[in-house]
Amino acid sequence: MPSMQRIPLSFEFFPPKTPEGADKLRLVRQQLYGLKPEFCSVTFGAGGSTQEGTFNTVRDILAEGVSAASHFSCVGATKDTVRAQLATLRSMGVRRLVALRGDLPSGYGAGGEFHYASDLVAFIRAETGDDFHLEVAAYPEVHPQAKSPASDLQAFAAKVQAGANSAITQYFYNSDAYFRFLEESEKLGITVPVVPGIMPITSSTQLMRFSDACGAEIPRWIRLRLQSYGDDVASIKAFGLEVVTDLCEQLRAGGAPALHFYTMNQSAPTLALCDNLGLGI
Ligand code: FAD
Repeated sequence: MPSMQRIPLSFEFFPPKTPEGADKLRLVRQQLYGLKPEFCSVTFGAGGSTQEGTFNTVRDILAEGVSAASHFSCVGATKDTVRAQLATLRSMGVRRLVALRGDLPSGYGAGGEFHYASDLVAFIRAETGDDFHLEVAAYPEVHPQAKSPASDLQAFAAKVQAGANSAITQYFYNSDAYFRFLEESEKLGITVPVVPGIMPITSSTQLMRFSDACGAEIPRWIRLRLQSYGDDVASIKAFGLEVVTDLCEQLRAGGAPALHFYTMNQSAPTLALCDNLGLGI
């Protein structure tokens, strides 16, 4: 079989909360850098709650000689705060952002001068021209607050029209949803790369909790299998590795432009997946 061209990879981290967490993440990054990611991204707590941790982690990645993307959410933000944050990021040498609306934790008032991520993308383009490569979020299984699948697709198109260069999807375990999303986007004239977000499966409860919150569907057959393993972590991991490897194979065979891994600040699950995919170190 002719060898396939190596698919580009990117890795997502969240800012660690403690010095021990920062040390652990440093090690995790070194382990993952062997896979030669195009970039590593760092999440950003809505309302700016993790700004310092996000920017510090981004700084560390850049200092390690790797391209870094800062996530950037606008809910609750003002034009002035966004302008100031953009100036900081630019002075740090950041050239890639993941521009998001974000979700405010309950208890925060909505407020702010931005309603949707498309407003943020338009503002960043107006303020900084082409200084940043802008990624936006895409939802093959439809964002949980969307009025309809069609309006969610329109919202995605609005982000691209406002100036997004590429997109990363919410995670999913059904490749058909991704390929259908691509087809529908293309019908709207969207040609930017839409990179699937890959969530390794390592724990049953954690996955269920996340997925309920973000609207990602866990197919019934996966849910039932995971539940049947109970506390048998080794079986959960082995099954999860098999399922997600298959998913990545389908995505790669179907022409996905890259793979973006939600690492959850762990190296082993992403390393095992990439090894299975023949992308190992
Ligand atoms: P938007 O694109 O603004 O969409 C939000 C909702 O509004 C959707 O339901 C959409 O259909 C609807 N909508 C948009 N425009 C309109 C309009 N004009 N009229 C009516 N309805 C409209 N969250 C964080 O807090 N920090 C992170 O670092 C983070 N990283 C993420 C990374 C990725 C790759 C993904 C997929 C998600 C991430 N999230 C993060 C979660 C994200 O913030 C939430 O999913 C949030 O609810 C939506 O953000 P968005 O940028 O997709 O919003």
